[in-house]
Amino acid sequence: DVACFFREFAMSVLDVAVTREACQPLPVLGRDVRVPLVTGGEVTYAALDYAASAPALQRVWDDVAGYAPYYGSVHRGAGYLSQLSTDLFEQSRRTVAEFLGCRPDDQVVFTRSTTDSLNLLAAVVPVTTQVFVFVTEHHASLLPWRGHDVTYLAAPGSPGEAVATLERALAARDPHGDALVCVTGASNVTGELWPVRQLAAAAHAHGARIVLDAAQLAPHHPVDITALDVDYVAFSGHKLYAPFGSGVLAGRPDWLSAAEPYLAGGGASRTVARRADGGIDVEWHTDAARHEAGSPNVIGAYAIASACRALTEAGFDALVAREQQLVDRVLTGLAAVEGVTVLSLFGPGSARVGVISFVVEGWNSSHLAAALSAEYGIGVRDGLFCAHPLVRTLLGGAPDEPAECGAPDTVPGERPLNAVRVSFGAGT
Ligand code: PLP
Repeated sequence: DVACFFREFAMSVLDVAVTREACQPLPVLGRDVRVPLVTGGEVTYAALDYAASAPALQRVWDDVAGYAPYYGSVHRGAGYLSQLSTDLFEQSRRTVAEFLGCRPDDQVVFTRSTTDSLNLLAAVVPVTTQVFVFVTEHHASLLPWRGHDVTYLAAPGSPGEAVATLERALAARDPHGDALVCVTGASNVTGELWPVRQLAAAAHAHGARIVLDAAQLAPHHPVDITALDVDYVAFSGHKLYAPFGSGVLAGRPDWLSAAEPYLAGGGASRTVARRADGGIDVEWHTDAARHEAGSPNVIGAYAIASACRALTEAGFDALVAREQQLVDRVLTGLAAVEGVTVLSLFGPGSARVGVISFVVEGWNSSHLAAALSAEYGIGVRDGLFCAHPLVRTLLGGAPDEPAECGAPDTVPGERPLNAVRVSFGAGT
């Protein structure tokens, strides 16, 4: 019955949240936060919404607190703190480049988020570029290309089918123009890993470039731009344990250096001069500064670099092994609860990060998520996760069916209209 389901579910998930034996989780903020329950009393909050925003690593928080008194405006000041901040800002760029295994001439642009990074890339891609994107992408990867000639690729049923689908589409393209493929590294809905290396090889074989949306991959797996042979990588600080409002776009410099600045303003311009005819001549920077107009988020950049260092020092081998144990425990726990279906595009047993969505027969996922919070202090997410066509497909609907986040109740036997997502990571 209902109470029994919630209890069993809460037990299985809370059990995961307090697992300690595999290897120590990285210290994060908020581990001891107590939250009230509607049933009375309070419990320690179980944060299982890392895919939306991960808690800050204690190390990131400490580094930021250590730097904060020395904060100063970068690039323009002769003062000591401005100089120090400029050094730290540029050092942060180099740390990110190293974390991503960038090629020597790759640019690392600090942005606000993955969404911002992909919109920036869409703004600098030559306008005649053909863009190929799977319809299953997060809206941040799906939507920025609408000013281009976009081909939306059908949801594949396996990693191999994803590669074959892309190859077919690229083989049919006009081989003369520029082309760009946009793919996610790990799904924010199913957590499943996409065959990035093979997709990159397919893209390059057909003369296309490829951008990796690493928003969900980077917090869980190493993302090496050179080893994966992708042209661009985008990710967000707040999903990488550095919630200070910054993100990254890294990759090939030519389109970035040639395009109009993403934002026009100070910092992006090298010289600005009044012309004799009354107009204005601008010479823009050709490095990353070209797309970082205005006063950049120095603390955000510094926080991302701190997270990169912390994850590198912890070692992705250990982090991945530990997280895999947590994934297995959640899947086993959910399999034991009657009526639960775990969402998967690539089929059971597919490789995934700590992001798992599911539905429970006869249940509105929003009510379920609300009850997990109110009655058990478990923070999860419900809805369509900004990937409406994907979730529609996974729930047995057509990808073009209109989606609503606040879906009405379903009854046993009826198709669910939204899902619950649990997600976790290095701090769990
Ligand atoms: N891409 C994926 C796969 C995501 O999961 C998200 C956020 O959930 C984004 C892009 C957008 O990230 P942000 O909201 O930080 O811009």
